[in-house]
Amino acid sequence: MLNSQTSAHSTPRDADSVWRECLDQIKPLVPAMTFNTWFLPIKPIALKGDSLTIQLPNNFFYDWIAERYNSHINKSVKDVLGENGLIDYVIVNEETKEPFMHTQQPAQRIMVDPSSLVQEEDDEYFESNINNKYTFDNFIKGESNQLARAAAYAIGENPGGTSFNPLFIYGGVGLGKTHLIHAIGNAVMQKDRSKRVHYISADRFTVKFVEAIQENKKQQFTGQFQKLDVLIIDDIQFLAGKEKTLDEFFLIFNTLHQSGKQIVLTSDRPPKDLIGINDRLISRFNWGLTTDVQPPDFETRLAILNKKADSYNIRLTGDMLDYIATHITSNIRELEGVLLKLLAKISFGYSDINFDLVKKVVREISTTKKVNIGIDVITKVVCEHLKVDEKKIRDKTRKQEIVEARQIAMYLSKMMTNSTLKMIGLHFGGRDHSTVIHAVTEIENQVNTSARSKEMIEEIKNKIELLCS
Ligand code: ADP
Ligand code: MG
Repeated sequence: MLNSQTSAHSTPRDADSVWRECLDQIKPLVPAMTFNTWFLPIKPIALKGDSLTIQLPNNFFYDWIAERYNSHINKSVKDVLGENGLIDYVIVNEETKEPFMHTQQPAQRIMVDPSSLVQEEDDEYFESNINNKYTFDNFIKGESNQLARAAAYAIGENPGGTSFNPLFIYGGVGLGKTHLIHAIGNAVMQKDRSKRVHYISADRFTVKFVEAIQENKKQQFTGQFQKLDVLIIDDIQFLAGKEKTLDEFFLIFNTLHQSGKQIVLTSDRPPKDLIGINDRLISRFNWGLTTDVQPPDFETRLAILNKKADSYNIRLTGDMLDYIATHITSNIRELEGVLLKLLAKISFGYSDINFDLVKKVVREISTTKKVNIGIDVITKVVCEHLKVDEKKIRDKTRKQEIVEARQIAMYLSKMMTNSTLKMIGLHFGGRDHSTVIHAVTEIENQVNTSARSKEMIEEIKNKIELLCS
């Protein structure tokens, strides 16, 4: 083992040198602009055994890096530190200039074990899929969400033990439904680690069910769901018209409900308007508590903005916050969108935030259409536009035109829906998340470098929005 790599062992390794080696590996893999913007600001801060800790400037940075470049980073760390190499991410606290890791806020410490990214297929149903970013602590109470929040909170304390079973929360896009139901999951698991909690979107539930049938594992599928203590299904409207999936869901629902297990559902509309879901299920949805979330009032919007600005370390004046809360009224995701866009602008070299920039961003955000878009529609429109057969897109084929259509559909699914990389991969014939990341990066590059690509993507996007509005 006397190659140039191991000669480093005469000079003891430290975090700096290890990270420098990692950067050398990553650099050729990403565009220069990306490298400078996203990788250079990262600081290596500790090396303990096989574990390298790097520090990122803020949460936004973390999301961006973790989503797009996790695989690059993990691979480089393993190459440099060996198979057991681990990477810890730490986020800086702007106030104290200290990494959160040292401030005893463990929730802010985000650790990623590269090996945890490869999951066994069968374990999947038992994973909670709960996102620990969404808690009751960081959910702002307001008149608009009072009942939904109170019920969710009660369930978090006592799953299956309240009269809110099922809990059915409905309401428009971006009003906090998904946040609330993850908060339930977090609360339950925090109180009792042994509880089996599972979050799944209805879309994903359908995909998993179809796969289970194809692989002759239907019983296993149903069985795994029936073993849960808390089943949380998001955006149940996507089950409409899917008869077989609905039948299966009916069975699971009954078993869980009869044994006092908690069921939590969300939808974009009240049960009675769920056309394509049969009455026996609809009536069950109303067995517990059905409640809505409304668009937030001004004070709630302001409170949410304040909290989010804090968590992203963005400093805005009272006037700016007022302006945003006055102009973005219908949707909390858009409030967040304004902050993220501002953050992106700062990251890309605007040195500070001024009122004009705030106005510009608010204008940009409020003119984008608000729609609820699914991967199915995106795939359909992309295939129509590029004149390829929709079925082929899920196949293994590497024919150039199919690959392109698939990548565009993956890219748009990432951009236009809230789906996780894993879920997008599943929709396109069970590809894994790294394939999706690759597709997204690929198309992003094309859009950034070719006006023609950009135009085409815009055109497809408009079609999709038109179809969904
Ligand atoms: P929905 O599922 O209703 O479309 P989400 O739960 O995804 O909406 O919410 C959109 C974004 O707004 C999320 O980032 C969420 O954290 C945030 N959000 C929504 N309501 C609140 C609230 N009351 N307090 C803090 N953040 C909120
Ligand atoms: Mg949602």
